[in-house]
Amino acid sequence: MGGGNAVVVGGGIGGLAVAIGLRRIGWEVTVVERAPALDDAGAGISLHANGIRALDALGVGDAVREAARPQYTGGTRVPGGGWLSRMDGAALERTLGTPIVGIPRSVLHRLLRVALPSECLVTGAEVTAVDRTDPHRVRVAVGDTVRDADLVVAADGVRSMIRARMFPGHPGPAYSGSTVLRAITDGPVGLATDFELTWGQGAEFGHIAFADGRAEWHAVFGSPSGVRYPDPLATLRDRFADWHDPIPALLDATRPGAVLHHDIHELVAPLPSFVAGRVALLGDAAHAMTPNLGQGACQALEDAATLAASLVTAPDVGTALAAYDAERRPRSQAVARAARQAGRMGQQLTHPLAVSVRNTVLRLAPSRVTLGAILRHADWTPPSLAPNAR
Ligand code: FAD
Repeated sequence: MGGGNAVVVGGGIGGLAVAIGLRRIGWEVTVVERAPALDDAGAGISLHANGIRALDALGVGDAVREAARPQYTGGTRVPGGGWLSRMDGAALERTLGTPIVGIPRSVLHRLLRVALPSECLVTGAEVTAVDRTDPHRVRVAVGDTVRDADLVVAADGVRSMIRARMFPGHPGPAYSGSTVLRAITDGPVGLATDFELTWGQGAEFGHIAFADGRAEWHAVFGSPSGVRYPDPLATLRDRFADWHDPIPALLDATRPGAVLHHDIHELVAPLPSFVAGRVALLGDAAHAMTPNLGQGACQALEDAATLAASLVTAPDVGTALAAYDAERRPRSQAVARAARQAGRMGQQLTHPLAVSVRNTVLRLAPSRVTLGAILRHADWTPPSLAPNAR
């Protein structure tokens, strides 16, 4: 179909990515973001081949690859330092064309932002209602103003107001039971590996190295929601005191003010649809998942490329959104289930016997099994955004 005009609600990774995709296929786009500035203050992020391929389809893959650090070495460890499994980034690269890459969120966000003309981006403006009563248009209330659009993409995150209005009977996000503290080190740190995860009983500590020598680290453990610490770094030094190097060094290389603390929420009950009328849910609004597979943003990028491609090939918005829902819902919900399961078998496992069995299984698993677990989700090919490609 020809171009129309779209309002994208939310200027996170998902919202910016879909705006880039829509503009690429000739649509007019406005991204409405309630934060006063477009920025992702989170720490770092890893992108698997599926996320990078989606970025390629959107035309920004090379810029991201250039700024990111390929994750060739590392793997999963135990607190004493022994290895449970090794990551073979070179094998991933041979199989998928790219290893996993690590990048500060602020850099990824900036690269997406600069791919859009500034007049597309409206900040400090909150969408308060979306009216779907007219089948030919959708009306979006932004503060005191109303915008008409052919399509609204709700990329408004895990606590999506639009999702709650579309599916009033849906229970919404649930607390996963785990909380995460994370930060980027103040300066470069000497790390022997690009990427590590260490699993203890009911806790995980991990790092991702960046191109500039700094690294992001994260600590995840079970906690009642809402618990906060007056001195998070001191709490972590205490909690991870006898864990292997470089964990103490990463904490020492971090400014106290740099530590972010979030409780992890996810959509446990899968949505019956990602679309209603001319409104499409995308990213965490559609399928917020636990971070255990590092796939949440990758899935949002897949959504963005798929939605744009569906609009190119379909005769009208309704058909395009039906195709988007059919393509994206089963896959993203399967990845969300797998992420929850990975959390249960990884960071959330507390019983010493269960931990010991899990560790033995991982130590004995051939490297092709470890590789296969990554390929299961990472080996995805985006649809083409070119007209008449399908
Ligand atoms: P968000 O980033 O939440 O953006 C939503 C935006 O909408 C926000 O900017 C918000 O201000 C705005 N908004 C909300 N309501 C309104 C409104 N009414 N009007 C206007 N604006 C509104 N994924 C990976 O792929 N790899 C990883 O390594 C990885 N690591 C993670 C680690 C942790 C600890 C966590 C918690 C997540 C991780 N993820 C990872 C998941 C990833 O961060 C998310 O899936 C992704 O950022 C979701 O992007 P989004 O654009 O859908 O939502």
